[in-house]
Amino acid sequence: MEDLFGIEQNVLDEAVKYAAELKNGAAFEPSKFETIVKEYGRLLKQLRRVTKISDRTTVTLNTSKHDLLDKVHYDALTGIYNRRFMEDSLKRIVRSLSRHGGTLSVMMMDIDYFKKYNDTYGHSEGDTCLKAVAEALAGCLSRADDFVARYGGEEFTVILPDTDQSGARVMANKILRCVRALEIPHEKNEAASCVTISIGVTTSEVAHAHQGVDYIKRADEALYQSKQRGRNRYTYVDFREEI
Ligand code: GH3
Ligand code: MG
Ligand code: MG
Repeated sequence: MEDLFGIEQNVLDEAVKYAAELKNGAAFEPSKFETIVKEYGRLLKQLRRVTKISDRTTVTLNTSKHDLLDKVHYDALTGIYNRRFMEDSLKRIVRSLSRHGGTLSVMMMDIDYFKKYNDTYGHSEGDTCLKAVAEALAGCLSRADDFVARYGGEEFTVILPDTDQSGARVMANKILRCVRALEIPHEKNEAASCVTISIGVTTSEVAHAHQGVDYIKRADEALYQSKQRGRNRYTYVDFREEI
Protein backbone atom coordinates (compact mmCIF):
# COMPACT_ATOMS: atom_id res chain seq x y z
CA MET A 1 0.00 0.00 0.00
CA GLU A 2 1.35 3.40 -0.99
CA ASP A 3 2.02 6.04 1.64
CA LEU A 4 -1.06 8.17 0.92
CA PHE A 5 -0.16 10.79 3.52
CA GLY A 6 3.28 11.10 1.89
CA ILE A 7 1.71 11.57 -1.55
CA GLU A 8 -0.74 14.13 -0.15
CA GLN A 9 2.14 16.08 1.44
CA ASN A 10 4.11 16.01 -1.87
CA VAL A 11 1.12 17.26 -3.90
CA LEU A 12 0.56 20.00 -1.35
CA ASP A 13 4.25 20.99 -1.31
CA GLU A 14 4.32 21.09 -5.13
CA ALA A 15 1.17 23.25 -5.24
CA VAL A 16 2.47 25.69 -2.58
CA LYS A 17 5.86 25.93 -4.31
CA TYR A 18 4.27 26.55 -7.70
CA ALA A 19 1.86 29.17 -6.26
CA ALA A 20 4.86 31.02 -4.76
CA GLU A 21 6.69 30.92 -8.13
CA LEU A 22 3.62 32.36 -9.88
CA LYS A 23 3.32 35.06 -7.20
CA ASN A 24 6.97 35.98 -7.80
CA GLY A 25 6.20 36.57 -11.46
CA ALA A 26 7.03 33.20 -13.02
CA ALA A 27 5.22 32.47 -16.28
CA PHE A 28 2.25 30.10 -16.10
CA GLU A 29 3.30 26.64 -17.29
CA PRO A 30 0.28 24.45 -18.13
CA SER A 31 2.35 21.22 -17.96
CA LYS A 32 3.45 21.93 -14.37
CA PHE A 33 -0.13 22.71 -13.38
CA GLU A 34 -1.37 19.51 -15.11
CA THR A 35 1.20 17.41 -13.23
CA ILE A 36 -0.09 18.68 -9.89
CA VAL A 37 -3.73 18.10 -10.90
CA LYS A 38 -2.86 14.61 -12.16
CA GLU A 39 -1.11 13.70 -8.90
CA TYR A 40 -4.08 15.01 -6.97
CA GLY A 41 -6.44 12.89 -9.10
CA ARG A 42 -4.31 9.79 -8.46
CA LEU A 43 -4.44 10.53 -4.74
CA LEU A 44 -8.24 10.79 -4.77
CA LYS A 45 -8.50 7.48 -6.64
CA GLN A 46 -6.30 5.77 -4.07
CA LEU A 47 -8.34 7.27 -1.24
CA ARG A 48 -11.55 5.94 -2.77
CA ARG A 49 -9.97 2.47 -2.98
CA VAL A 50 -8.90 2.61 0.67
CA THR A 51 -12.37 3.77 1.77
CA LYS A 52 -13.92 0.82 -0.10
CA ILE A 53 -11.55 -1.63 1.61
CA SER A 54 -12.30 -0.02 4.97
CA ASP A 55 -16.08 -0.32 4.38
CA ARG A 56 -15.71 -3.98 3.44
CA THR A 57 -13.59 -4.61 6.54
CA THR A 58 -16.23 -2.95 8.72
CA VAL A 59 -18.96 -5.21 7.28
CA THR A 60 -16.78 -8.31 7.85
CA LEU A 61 -15.99 -7.24 11.41
CA ASN A 62 -19.67 -6.62 12.18
CA THR A 63 -20.59 -10.06 10.82
CA SER A 64 -17.85 -11.68 12.94
CA LYS A 65 -19.05 -9.78 16.00
CA HIS A 66 -22.60 -11.01 15.35
CA ASP A 67 -21.38 -14.63 14.93
CA LEU A 68 -19.38 -14.33 18.13
CA LEU A 69 -22.36 -12.99 20.09
CA ASP A 70 -24.38 -15.93 18.75
CA LYS A 71 -21.80 -18.31 20.17
CA VAL A 72 -21.82 -16.53 23.50
CA HIS A 73 -25.62 -16.67 23.92
CA TYR A 74 -26.70 -19.88 22.24
CA ASP A 75 -26.16 -23.58 22.79
CA ALA A 76 -24.28 -25.08 19.84
CA LEU A 77 -26.23 -28.36 19.69
CA THR A 78 -29.83 -27.26 20.21
CA GLY A 79 -29.74 -23.62 19.10
CA ILE A 80 -31.64 -22.44 22.18
CA TYR A 81 -30.12 -20.10 24.79
CA ASN A 82 -27.28 -21.48 26.88
CA ARG A 83 -26.84 -21.52 30.64
CA ARG A 84 -24.67 -18.42 30.71
CA PHE A 85 -27.28 -16.34 28.89
CA MET A 86 -30.01 -17.71 31.16
CA GLU A 87 -28.10 -16.86 34.34
CA ASP A 88 -27.28 -13.33 33.17
CA SER A 89 -30.87 -12.73 32.07
CA LEU A 90 -32.29 -14.19 35.26
CA LYS A 91 -30.22 -11.76 37.35
CA ARG A 92 -31.61 -8.85 35.33
CA ILE A 93 -35.18 -10.19 35.49
CA VAL A 94 -35.04 -10.68 39.28
CA ARG A 95 -33.68 -7.14 39.74
CA SER A 96 -36.36 -5.67 37.50
CA LEU A 97 -39.29 -7.64 39.00
CA SER A 98 -38.17 -6.84 42.57
CA ARG A 99 -38.76 -3.12 41.87
CA HIS A 100 -42.54 -3.53 41.57
CA GLY A 101 -43.07 -6.83 43.42
CA GLY A 102 -43.61 -8.79 40.20
CA THR A 103 -44.04 -12.57 40.24
CA LEU A 104 -41.52 -15.00 38.81
CA SER A 105 -41.78 -18.71 38.05
CA VAL A 106 -38.75 -20.85 37.26
CA MET A 107 -38.67 -24.46 36.06
CA MET A 108 -35.84 -26.95 35.92
CA MET A 109 -36.38 -30.02 33.77
CA ASP A 110 -34.45 -33.13 32.89
CA ILE A 111 -35.02 -35.95 30.39
CA ASP A 112 -35.90 -39.25 32.08
CA TYR A 113 -33.46 -42.16 31.81
CA PHE A 114 -31.48 -40.37 29.15
CA LYS A 115 -28.31 -42.33 29.82
CA LYS A 116 -30.29 -45.46 28.92
CA TYR A 117 -31.57 -43.70 25.79
CA ASN A 118 -27.98 -43.10 24.65
CA ASP A 119 -27.00 -46.64 25.58
CA THR A 120 -29.91 -48.08 23.58
CA TYR A 121 -30.05 -45.84 20.49
CA GLY A 122 -26.54 -44.36 20.35
CA HIS A 123 -25.09 -40.93 21.15
CA SER A 124 -26.00 -39.46 17.77
CA GLU A 125 -29.68 -40.39 18.22
CA GLY A 126 -29.31 -38.92 21.73
CA ASP A 127 -28.24 -35.62 20.19
CA THR A 128 -31.20 -35.72 17.78
CA CYS A 129 -33.51 -36.34 20.72
CA LEU A 130 -32.04 -33.39 22.66
CA LYS A 131 -32.63 -31.10 19.66
CA ALA A 132 -36.24 -32.28 19.29
CA VAL A 133 -36.96 -31.79 23.00
CA ALA A 134 -35.38 -28.31 22.96
CA GLU A 135 -37.51 -27.35 19.96
CA ALA A 136 -40.66 -28.68 21.63
CA LEU A 137 -39.92 -26.72 24.82
CA ALA A 138 -39.36 -23.52 22.85
CA GLY A 139 -42.59 -24.17 20.95
CA CYS A 140 -44.56 -24.43 24.21
CA LEU A 141 -43.75 -20.88 25.24
CA SER A 142 -46.07 -18.22 23.90
CA ARG A 143 -45.26 -15.04 25.84
CA ALA A 144 -42.48 -12.83 24.51
CA ASP A 145 -40.64 -12.67 27.85
CA ASP A 146 -40.70 -16.43 28.50
CA PHE A 147 -37.65 -18.35 27.45
CA VAL A 148 -35.99 -21.75 27.63
CA ALA A 149 -32.27 -22.45 27.94
CA ARG A 150 -30.16 -25.60 27.93
CA TYR A 151 -28.80 -25.77 31.46
CA GLY A 152 -26.36 -28.52 30.53
CA GLY A 153 -26.46 -32.16 29.37
CA GLU A 154 -30.13 -33.17 29.18
CA GLU A 155 -31.30 -30.44 31.55
CA PHE A 156 -33.26 -27.35 30.61
CA THR A 157 -34.46 -24.24 32.43
CA VAL A 158 -37.64 -22.31 31.66
CA ILE A 159 -38.00 -18.74 32.92
CA LEU A 160 -41.51 -17.32 33.19
CA PRO A 161 -41.56 -13.67 34.31
CA ASP A 162 -44.88 -12.28 35.62
CA THR A 163 -46.29 -15.78 35.96
CA ASP A 164 -48.00 -16.89 39.19
CA GLN A 165 -48.22 -20.38 40.65
CA SER A 166 -51.39 -21.39 38.80
CA GLY A 167 -49.94 -20.09 35.51
CA ALA A 168 -46.73 -22.04 36.14
CA ARG A 169 -48.70 -25.22 36.84
CA VAL A 170 -50.59 -24.82 33.57
CA MET A 171 -47.27 -24.34 31.74
CA ALA A 172 -45.70 -27.37 33.45
CA ASN A 173 -48.57 -29.59 32.29
CA LYS A 174 -48.37 -28.13 28.79
CA ILE A 175 -44.62 -28.81 28.61
CA LEU A 176 -45.03 -32.40 29.83
CA ARG A 177 -47.67 -32.92 27.13
CA CYS A 178 -45.53 -31.27 24.42
CA VAL A 179 -42.59 -33.58 25.09
CA ARG A 180 -44.77 -36.70 25.25
CA ALA A 181 -46.47 -35.63 22.02
CA LEU A 182 -43.12 -35.96 20.22
CA GLU A 183 -43.63 -39.71 20.70
CA ILE A 184 -39.91 -40.46 20.53
CA PRO A 185 -39.66 -44.18 21.34
CA HIS A 186 -37.67 -44.93 24.50
CA GLU A 187 -38.04 -48.59 25.40
CA LYS A 188 -35.84 -48.30 28.50
CA ASN A 189 -37.87 -45.45 30.01
CA GLU A 190 -39.44 -46.96 33.12
CA ALA A 191 -41.97 -44.10 33.29
CA ALA A 192 -43.48 -44.45 29.78
CA SER A 193 -42.75 -45.99 26.37
CA CYS A 194 -41.58 -42.70 24.85
CA VAL A 195 -39.20 -39.91 25.85
CA THR A 196 -40.49 -37.97 28.87
CA ILE A 197 -39.16 -35.31 31.19
CA SER A 198 -39.44 -34.48 34.86
CA ILE A 199 -40.00 -30.90 35.97
CA GLY A 200 -39.43 -28.86 39.14
CA VAL A 201 -41.31 -25.59 39.55
CA THR A 202 -41.12 -22.71 41.98
CA THR A 203 -42.88 -19.33 42.06
CA SER A 204 -42.55 -16.22 44.16
CA GLU A 205 -43.31 -12.56 44.33
CA VAL A 206 -39.81 -11.19 43.80
CA ALA A 207 -38.26 -9.37 46.77
CA HIS A 208 -35.11 -7.24 46.84
CA ALA A 209 -33.24 -9.91 48.81
CA HIS A 210 -33.93 -12.60 46.19
CA GLN A 211 -31.29 -13.82 43.77
CA GLY A 212 -31.73 -15.72 40.51
CA VAL A 213 -29.74 -18.64 41.83
CA ASP A 214 -32.26 -19.05 44.72
CA TYR A 215 -34.99 -19.76 42.15
CA ILE A 216 -32.78 -22.27 40.32
CA LYS A 217 -31.99 -24.05 43.60
CA ARG A 218 -35.68 -24.32 44.59
CA ALA A 219 -36.71 -25.50 41.13
CA ASP A 220 -33.89 -28.06 41.16
CA GLU A 221 -35.07 -29.39 44.51
CA ALA A 222 -38.58 -29.72 43.07
CA LEU A 223 -37.11 -31.55 40.05
CA TYR A 224 -35.35 -33.98 42.38
CA GLN A 225 -38.71 -34.70 44.04
CA SER A 226 -40.30 -35.38 40.63
CA LYS A 227 -37.56 -37.95 39.94
CA GLN A 228 -38.16 -39.56 43.35
CA ARG A 229 -41.91 -39.67 42.80
CA GLY A 230 -41.61 -41.67 39.55
CA ARG A 231 -40.57 -39.15 36.83
CA ASN A 232 -42.72 -37.95 33.87
CA ARG A 233 -44.39 -35.34 36.12
CA TYR A 234 -43.91 -31.95 37.69
CA THR A 235 -43.53 -30.98 41.35
CA TYR A 236 -44.20 -27.55 42.75
CA VAL A 237 -42.05 -26.35 45.64
CA ASP A 238 -42.91 -23.20 47.53
CA PHE A 239 -40.08 -20.68 47.19
CA ARG A 240 -40.11 -19.96 50.94
CA GLU A 241 -39.82 -23.62 51.95
CA GLU A 242 -36.51 -24.52 53.54
CA ILE A 243 -34.54 -26.88 51.34
P1 GH3 B 1 -32.71 -39.60 35.27
O1 GH3 B 1 -33.97 -40.21 34.81
O2 GH3 B 1 -32.51 -39.76 36.74
O3 GH3 B 1 -32.54 -38.18 34.85
O4 GH3 B 1 -31.52 -40.45 34.61
P2 GH3 B 1 -30.60 -40.05 33.40
O5 GH3 B 1 -30.05 -41.30 32.82
O6 GH3 B 1 -31.35 -39.18 32.46
O7 GH3 B 1 -29.52 -39.16 34.12
P3 GH3 B 1 -27.96 -39.25 34.16
O8 GH3 B 1 -27.51 -37.98 34.80
O9 GH3 B 1 -27.51 -40.53 34.78
O10 GH3 B 1 -27.51 -39.27 32.66
C1 GH3 B 1 -27.57 -38.17 31.82
C2 GH3 B 1 -27.09 -38.60 30.47
O11 GH3 B 1 -27.16 -37.52 29.53
C3 GH3 B 1 -25.65 -39.05 30.48
C4 GH3 B 1 -25.04 -38.38 29.27
O12 GH3 B 1 -24.40 -39.30 28.46
C5 GH3 B 1 -26.20 -37.77 28.54
N1 GH3 B 1 -25.86 -36.53 27.87
C6 GH3 B 1 -25.48 -35.36 28.42
N2 GH3 B 1 -25.22 -34.43 27.45
C7 GH3 B 1 -25.41 -35.05 26.26
C8 GH3 B 1 -25.30 -34.63 24.90
O13 GH3 B 1 -24.95 -33.50 24.56
N3 GH3 B 1 -25.60 -35.55 23.95
C9 GH3 B 1 -26.00 -36.81 24.26
N4 GH3 B 1 -26.28 -37.66 23.28
N5 GH3 B 1 -26.10 -37.24 25.52
C10 GH3 B 1 -25.82 -36.37 26.52
MG1 MG C 1 -29.48 -34.88 34.40
MG1 MG D 1 -31.99 -37.31 33.11
